[in-house]
This record gives sequence, structure tokens and C-alpha cells, in this order.
Amino acid sequence: MALIDFNRPYLTGKEAHYMYQAVFNKRLSGNGMFTKKCQQFFEDRYGFKKALLVTSGTDALEMCAMLCELKPGDEVIVPSYTFVSTALAFIREGAKVIFADSMEGNPNIDAEKLENLITPRTKVIVPVHYAGVACDMDAILDVANKYHLMVVEDAAQAVDSYYKGRPLGSIGHLGAFSFHETKNITAGGEGGLLVINEERFLRRAEILWEKGTNRAEFFRGAVNKYGWVDTGSSFLPAEINAAFLWAQLENLEEVQSKRRALWERYYAGLQDLGAEGKISLPQVPDYATNNGHMFYFVCRSLDERTSLIRYLKDKEIQAPFHYLALHKSDYYLANNAERPNLPNTDRYTDCLIRLPMFYELQFEDVDTIVNEIRMFFN
Ligand SMILES: *Cc1c(COP(=O)(O)O)cnc(C)c1O
Repeated sequence: MALIDFNRPYLTGKEAHYMYQAVFNKRLSGNGMFTKKCQQFFEDRYGFKKALLVTSGTDALEMCAMLCELKPGDEVIVPSYTFVSTALAFIREGAKVIFADSMEGNPNIDAEKLENLITPRTKVIVPVHYAGVACDMDAILDVANKYHLMVVEDAAQAVDSYYKGRPLGSIGHLGAFSFHETKNITAGGEGGLLVINEERFLRRAEILWEKGTNRAEFFRGAVNKYGWVDTGSSFLPAEINAAFLWAQLENLEEVQSKRRALWERYYAGLQDLGAEGKISLPQVPDYATNNGHMFYFVCRSLDERTSLIRYLKDKEIQAPFHYLALHKSDYYLANNAERPNLPNTDRYTDCLIRLPMFYELQFEDVDTIVNEIRMFFN
């Protein structure tokens, strides 16, 4: 039997063609034609006030953190069950990260328990839409409004997904998407998008994006020279990456529907095991949509998950786990005295397993994987 990879990069059609066109146009640095086409696509389709293409989801989060204008000691509430960048982006700005627990039924941040974490120093809440499934945004916004906090959506996994009909990334003050190779669509390996939903952040966002200069205004003809006006970095991706992303955006519908169909097939195949209580299947609340980013389930124990991963590996099926709880990371423990107790985060760290999911995965492969998992549990 052939090896079933966990993820495989794919071409949906005209990636190479558009990359060639970018080269042929002799315009390879950032903010060119393909960058503008991609940004326009997001603004038109999802109603983002402004979308800026950046070099990674991590960079989009770093720009969000810079736009929050934090002072040393300001506190930012982040789930512990997430990728490192969600927390690191704010730590780099001198903030103190306060880790929140996940919900019992789904790895998203538990909005019911948020208020306990608020202090006079709290400035930002960062909901992460895990697996592209929306956090309970109304509950989060209620707390944010009550305490005048910023909301930054880590929508890295959440392209083309919705909360009560509203596109994810459009609900908080700022949002961050990733186009890394492992996400639903990719900008040729690495890429991201910063979303700005409020007018007041627009000018500074463009300056941070353009290495602390007002070059974007200059190119629009708004000023007659440009220079150094603020902090910033080189956050613009090259046109080659934007060209690759443009081809994927043209095929977004197809990518999403294929991924959702694969997800549904896994879910149907594993439903019995869920009903028998042998595994916990993913839950998509009524307020959320499923963008087919990830198929995961939760085992009953760490030992069982370890045996299952080993069993699947013997059958040449790659099924990894993630994340290691950030509140138990070496970096956090070395730099913080607090030892928060986050039982749901610990359970997901120990027991969650991910199954292969990518555009070119075959339905027969899903059936094979499902059958192996059923054999393991029965
Ligand atoms: C992938 C991911 C990131 C980082 O995105 P990169 O493009 O890899 O920098 C951040 N947060 C979450 C939740 C992610 O899944």
C-alpha cells in the first residue's frame, strides 16, 4: 500500500502560469499587480475594510501586535492550545501573555471563563478559530466591549469560514490569516494576510508593512516624497508568491468543497466509534461553519493515542498530533512564575490526533484510513 502523507502541497491550475507572468512583467518585489488582485479579492468577497498581503501568518500576527500599541506589562489573553506564533507575536511587543483554557467540547477558547482572566492591565483578547471553526464571538465581544479591549482574530486556519453568517477575520478589530503550505490555500509555501477592520489602524498598518516608511502613500500620489516615519519591518511578500496565491484563489470554491467532502466522509465513517464513546468526534457549533481545514478527533488517553499513531504508522498512514500546551512550554516556564491549571488544554495536548487532509487526497484513501482506525478500536 502506498504511503498516505499527512499533507501534500498541490497545484489547482495556473500557479506556474501566473508566476511566469510576474517574471515576464519584470515586477517582482511586493505590492505589485498580483498582490493588489489578491487583496481586492479578500476585500470584495469578505467585506474586510483593508487586506494586506504579508509573508506569513506569523508576520500578520506581529503586525496586529504592533498595531495594539502595547506597553510593557500589558496583558493579552491567548488560548494555550494554539501555535506558538499566536503568543509569541505579543511577547515580542513586551506584553505579558495570559493563557486561557479551551472549551470542553471543542479546542476553541472558553469564552465563559474569560472574565476571570481580566485585570486592569488586560488590553487584548486573541480568539483562535481552531480547525477553521469559529469561536463564540458574541460572548467574546461582550467581554471585550465591557472592558474596552481589542480583539485580534487568529484566523490562520479559517479562510472562507463564518460565524453567524459573518466572515471570520472581519469580526475583531484586526485579523490574521496564513497561506502556509499546510493551510487550505497557499502562497507557494509561505504567506499570510493582515485584515484591518477599523479605519483608525489603516495608515499605520501600511507604514509598518513598508519598513516604517510612508511609501504606500507616495505610490498612491498622496504625498510627493516618502521617508522614515515609524517602526516597521519588511512584511511584503514577493510578487511570485502573490501570483501563486492568485491561482489558488481562483479555485477557492473547488478547494473548499473537496476538503469539506473529505471531512464529511471521515465523519460518516467514524460516527459509530463516536457513538460508542471510543473517540470524541469534532463538534461544529450551530453558529459556525466548517471549512474542511482539518479532520481531528480526541482519544480517551495519551496511551491510546500513542498506540493508534504507531498502528497507523505501521500501515504507512501519517497521523500526527499537536499542539504541546504553550503554558507548559520550556519558554513559558523559564520566563513566568505562574502555573495555570488548564485541564481541557492538557486533554487536547495528550489525546487529539489529526488525520491526512489535503486537496488531492482520494476518497478511497479516506476509506482506507477509516477502516484501519475501526480495526484498531474493534
Ligand atoms: C499556521 C498558524 C499560524 C502561523 O502561520 P504561518 O503562516 O505558518 O506563520 C498561526 N496561528 C495558527 C493558529 C496557525 O495554525
